[in-house]
Amino acid sequence: MTVEIVSIGTELLLGQIVDTNAAWLSARLAEVGVEVYRRTTVGDNLTRIVTALREALERADGVIAIGGLGPTDDDLTREAFANIMGEPLVLDAGEAERLKAFFAARGRAITERQLRQAMRPASAQPIPNPNGTAPGLYAEWNGKLMFALPGPPNEFVPMATDAVLPRLAERTGGRVIRSRVVRLCGIGESDAEAQLSDLILSENPTLAPLAKLGEVHFRITARADSPDVAEQMIAQMEHAVRERLGAFIFGVDETTLEQAVVQRLIEAGQSLAVAESCTGGLLGHRITSVPGSSEVFLGGVISYSNSLKEALLGVPRRVLETHGAVSEPTARAMAEGVRERLGSWWGIGITGIAGPSGGTPDKPVGLVYISISDPTATVVKSQVFPGDRATVKYRATQYALWLLYQGVKQGGCDSLLQR
Ligand code: ATP
Ligand code: MG
Repeated sequence: MTVEIVSIGTELLLGQIVDTNAAWLSARLAEVGVEVYRRTTVGDNLTRIVTALREALERADGVIAIGGLGPTDDDLTREAFANIMGEPLVLDAGEAERLKAFFAARGRAITERQLRQAMRPASAQPIPNPNGTAPGLYAEWNGKLMFALPGPPNEFVPMATDAVLPRLAERTGGRVIRSRVVRLCGIGESDAEAQLSDLILSENPTLAPLAKLGEVHFRITARADSPDVAEQMIAQMEHAVRERLGAFIFGVDETTLEQAVVQRLIEAGQSLAVAESCTGGLLGHRITSVPGSSEVFLGGVISYSNSLKEALLGVPRRVLETHGAVSEPTARAMAEGVRERLGSWWGIGITGIAGPSGGTPDKPVGLVYISISDPTATVVKSQVFPGDRATVKYRATQYALWLLYQGVKQGGCDSLLQR
């Protein structure tokens, strides 16, 4: 099974937006064994859209068009499909009803222009869009498969997942596709890949690495005749990954590191307070983004200045003067100070140089000290993080969360000292 992707939109050609949809789709298609022959980008011009689609259909077994399905005049994908198929556009009764109900629910009358989104070539089927107004299109024409999906990624991704990938996977052998993402922290992508290199060669289920900022993800995808069998294949692959890299896995699918940390703290019945300098509250923000974090998160201190490190956290002036604000002893005193003063089980201290200026040969930009403390011990780690200011800040919070995750999981901060 071969397909081509045609991304439609002048915004793409002008470089105003990046074609993340096509990149995402290419990766998913590879996982299910569908070959992508070519990707094309065209502007919002009917003739050029038709030409691009027609050429794609000459080469491949199917085409997936992205974008141009909305209500405005520059949304021309429906017309292009009708044109190629040599069919008139007809109103899809079901979609028309849905659109009318959508607008009625918001107290608005539907315009003619909006209703155009319910049009489809006579023999095409609409693809439901749970997150927006424009339905997609699916057609079998001349032995080829044609799909069109709207451009906004929050609409595109679920529709491609539910309506495009299963139909294509069916043609490549398996009838259902299931996938699961395994999330790791504390290990680099190349290191993780090297340890799973034989598994990455597996064809069904597939195992595909995805590098994320401060994390590595592996997506397991199985094709099978039934959901049960697919799930079983995924479970086996996940088991194999866990056998090798289980120490680095904090969650699956949508689980974030902060969610995993909060969950662990809730299970352990342990509270947390944070003292942040260079991260300026980002760590507290990430933790409080988790529903239910109030059960374990007491709060924090953003002690950016030396005077507040001293006054609010009790970092000794002598330490600040001798070692500097960005130092091992300061981070330690911040973690211990916030734990004692706020009365939490765990304390975290972060101090560093987020850049882009302020570095010295001794203390380069990106140097961050991260300390975690509980009644058993205090641990301080340092690292020079690459990247711009925002990236350094994010990586510092990621490192802190990962340290804490391991500390809680292993039953205490002292467990981290022995390694
Ligand atoms: P709408 O109903 O929102 O008009 P549409 O199907 O007509 O959807 P477009 O008008 O082409 O889609 O694009 C709408 C928005 O979707 C763009 O402004 C952009 O933010 C996003 N978008 C479009 N195409 C892509 C793409 N290939 N990758 C990522 N984002 C995209
Ligand atoms: Mg549009």
